[in-house]
Amino acid sequence: MSIKTGTAVGEFISPHIKDTEWKCRASNYIKYDTVELEMLEKLRSDFGAEAIIIESGYRTTAYNQSIGGASGSPHTKGYAADVRFIKDGKLIPTEVVCCHAQDMGFKGIAICRGSGTNAHLDMYNRIYRGDERKGNYGNNIAGNDWYKETGLSKIDVQKYLMEDEEMVYKDVADVPVWGRVAVQRRIEAGATKGEDLTESMVRTWVIDDRMNPYYEDLIDVPNYWLTDVEEMVNAGFIFGDGKHDVAMTHSELKPIIVAYRMTKANKAV
Ligand SMILES: [Zn+2]
Repeated sequence: MSIKTGTAVGEFISPHIKDTEWKCRASNYIKYDTVELEMLEKLRSDFGAEAIIIESGYRTTAYNQSIGGASGSPHTKGYAADVRFIKDGKLIPTEVVCCHAQDMGFKGIAICRGSGTNAHLDMYNRIYRGDERKGNYGNNIAGNDWYKETGLSKIDVQKYLMEDEEMVYKDVADVPVWGRVAVQRRIEAGATKGEDLTESMVRTWVIDDRMNPYYEDLIDVPNYWLTDVEEMVNAGFIFGDGKHDVAMTHSELKPIIVAYRMTKANKAV
């Protein structure tokens, strides 16, 4: 966090918020936490809102008292704002704003007194969840959780959020390190050309490989199967793919191991 102070002259203190919107209504003095502004900007862009309206940003202690604000309010320290968002000309419901603000990690989240159209959002160092229309400034919502309090689901809130464009990797060199082995293996197996891979595709392959690992060579085979597989490779029962000794997934190898062990057991009898 970083607290800045100054005098409002009509300049932007973040991409969409002017110092004159943030300043105390009773003077031109401003004080703001840069993290609070970054969080508000992120909230705005998550919603794709065309406007963020600052009902109340910074307040001097005297002004805060005069309007009946909570004593020691984070508004007096530059950490808080009462805001509302307009998207496609319509107000985003305050309940939705509170839920998403909670997911984002705002510290203090409340519905302001009055019409209930403004959300109090702050980055002051404690957790506060309140509906100030209930008559106090304390934690007074169900389970301290805006989803519980409002009955909204994640899907309800998601409807208001901009959809993330899914990441597409042009070729294997673009794929992050965590996914490269899985992609490489499928290219070798001829399952993909390795072009225009979506992130969710690569993620699924990585998970598949974790559930059902692929053994290229003897060195990849787990110890509990190694002796059997080694014997079968030497005997030519397992012959790999020409490049690798084994070239089988765990689930492909399992019935072979079972059959081999049964055969061995019968011979021993
Ligand atoms: Zn407030």
